[in-house]
Order: sequence, then C-alpha cells, then structure tokens
Amino acid sequence: MRGNEQKYIREAFDSNWVAPMGTNVDLFERDLKTYLNNVHVTTLSSGTAAIHLGLILLGVNAGDEVICQSLTFAASANPILYLKAIPVFIDSEEDTWNLCPIALEEAIIDRIKLGKKPKAIITVHLYGNPYKIEVIRSIADKYQIPILEDAAEALGSSYKGQKCGVFGDISVLSFNGNKIITTSGGGALVSHSEDIKSRAIFLATQSKDDAIHYEHSEVGYNYRLSNISASIGRGQMEILDEFVNLRRKMQVFYKQLFEDVPGVYVYDVPDKDYFSNHWLSVITINPAETNGIDCNDLRLAFEAENIDSRPFWKPLHLQPLHQDFPYYGGNVAESLFAKGLCLPSGSNTSEEEKARIQNVIDCVFKTKKKIKIKSLFSKNKSLFENNVFVNFFSKIRLETT
Ligand SMILES: *Cc1c(COP(=O)(O)O)cnc(C)c1O
Repeated sequence: MRGNEQKYIREAFDSNWVAPMGTNVDLFERDLKTYLNNVHVTTLSSGTAAIHLGLILLGVNAGDEVICQSLTFAASANPILYLKAIPVFIDSEEDTWNLCPIALEEAIIDRIKLGKKPKAIITVHLYGNPYKIEVIRSIADKYQIPILEDAAEALGSSYKGQKCGVFGDISVLSFNGNKIITTSGGGALVSHSEDIKSRAIFLATQSKDDAIHYEHSEVGYNYRLSNISASIGRGQMEILDEFVNLRRKMQVFYKQLFEDVPGVYVYDVPDKDYFSNHWLSVITINPAETNGIDCNDLRLAFEAENIDSRPFWKPLHLQPLHQDFPYYGGNVAESLFAKGLCLPSGSNTSEEEKARIQNVIDCVFKTKKKIKIKSLFSKNKSLFENNVFVNFFSKIRLETT
C-alpha cells in the first residue's frame, strides 16, 4: 500500500457505503475499463469467482468438457469442477511455456471425434508472460469455441500493445494479496458487451428477478466486490504502472546475476510483441551444465538464509485431484516443473535484500560445487563478512507487492 488507498477507504466510510456496492466499486471498475481500453468490467470477490461466473456465462453445464492449460495454479481449473464439468488438460509449448497450439488442436479434434466438443478454452499468461495470443485465437475461432482468458497474473502485461485481460470472450483478473495489485481479496470479469456485464452482476448478487419481493428463477451467487476492497483497488490502480516497472526491474536483476552462469535460464518473452509484467521472476536450472546443482539445491540455500523461493505450479494433469481427466501433449510442462524455481520478486525488494539474494546465488554457483546447506553461512563466512546484513533475519518473501 502506498497510494491513496486509505483516502478512498475513508471516503467509503464517510459515505457509509460499507457494502458490496457503492461509489468506489463504480470508480474502480471505471479505472480498470480505462486501463484496459474500453471493455466492460465487473469487479467480484475473487479471480476464482470470476472464472466460475465466466464459465457459467459461456454456457458450461454439468458433463461438458472444458480445455485448460495444465501448467497453472489450481484456481484456473477448480471452477470447472464446481460446475461438475470435465477438465481436459493441455501441455505447454517451449516459447512462452503457455498453451501449446499443437496439443490444443489435437485435443479439440479428438474430443469432437468422441462427440464431446469442448465448451470453452481456459488460457493462462503464466507468471505474467502472455501466451501465443493470435495462434490460440485462430484455433478457437476455427472450431468456434470461446476463450476464457485467465489473466489473474497478467494485469499490466500486453501483446502487440494491447493489454492482457481483453483477449478472451470473457477474461478474468485477480486482486488477491499475492498479485501485482491487491484489494486484499478480489477479482474482475472482463467482457466485450454490456449484456454480459449485467448478466454477471445479476448472477453475482443472488440472481434476484425483477419483482418487489425476492423472486428467484435461477441459482445465484454472492460474488460482488465490497466497496471497501474497491477503495483499495482505486488507490492501487494509481501505482500499477510503477509496480510493473519494479517487477520488471527484478527480472533484469536476475538476468544480470545469471548472465554468465551456464545452465540457468531466466524466464522471458519470445520477442518484442510480448510485454510481461514479470509478476514473478522465475528460472530453470539444467543440472547437466551446473555441475549437478539443481533448483532444489538453490531453494535450500535460499531457505537457510531466510529467503523464500518455490517450485513452479505443479502441472494440473499430475495432481492427484485430476488424475482421471484427459491430457494432451508431451512432457514440456512436466519438465519445466522439474527444473523450475520462482524467486523473490516483490516490487519492494530493497537493495540490501538484493545483496542477500545475490550472495546466495554467488555462493551456490561460483563455488561450482554442491553446498552443504547448514554450513553456507558459517563456513563461507568470508563471503558475507563485509556485507550489510542489518536485517539478516527478516524474511525475504516471494510475492509481496
Ligand atoms: C491467483 C490466480 C487465480 C485465482 O485468483 P483469486 O483472486 O486468488 O481467486 C486464478 N488463476 C491464476 C493463474 C492465478 O494465479
């Protein structure tokens, strides 16, 4: 928090709108609409709620099949199960690590052959890096299957100058506490028609029919964003671009650190059509080129220094929850999971914290041998002695904003 969040919260209190509606909801939606270039935005209680409503609005019913990128957070696919629909998982491709067009088309053809034409395709911008927008869109259009774009990690990213969050028939944003901006909890459903927005608001406010009393002919949900959360969102929108800059600087920081370390790749976009918010900076390590050092060794070395790092999302088709559902593709997502690590990426990472991070990386990779974790600090004391570890014991977290 460092914009006008508190000022807008005060406005909400002063006007006594402490409800899932009010001026700040309208203004936060207006800000998002302007930022995304004139789409229709419905703010909701979470990104997951937005995916749930999005699938309903795309006509997904029990027993229907829904295609979903496998290498993503569980929340991308959970709403498929809320609807008792069937997820069909798809591998990643090597360029963007997102939805593989070849496996996607193969799956669509095969499901159609089985008499189960998928009802929707859930696309994801992994860690903020846009997927192959045009080729995926052309496949979706060829088979006339709508796209639900999960842009939960990609607010501030863009493709050919157009912001992510507008590429789906319906798109989804998240303002959860770990995302690039936060309302503590919250999300949004983005659409290209006023009708979809009114339908989304109707469903999100318990599906109340037009009557004096409470009349309901459809099942409803309590999914609207609170006016207090929206106040925070308004303040965060004012500093979104700055946050994107800071996240991108973290990725450059890692690119420089690993520049001359063979076997370590810092996740990046394929070319200049793609612009990533670099919500998280992530790397892959190929132990064949690092004298056997793998991402687990680095993770443990960070842990010993009280620095957060974490494996990638475990591909959903490998999760116990999803083991019985169809999967198309090879082992790209699986091998990324095996060699990937998410690094501290917070936009508020201090110079001193960066020095701590750099020390661990230098120590692990420059010594070119497996580090005995316990002794990293004590036995290699000389490496650390002259440094300014004023906050040595404060935890460096992965994804604070
Ligand atoms: C965070 C996230 C979600 C869910 O958003 P919430 O607001 O936390 O419900 C969905 N998909 C992806 C890819 C995410 O990272």
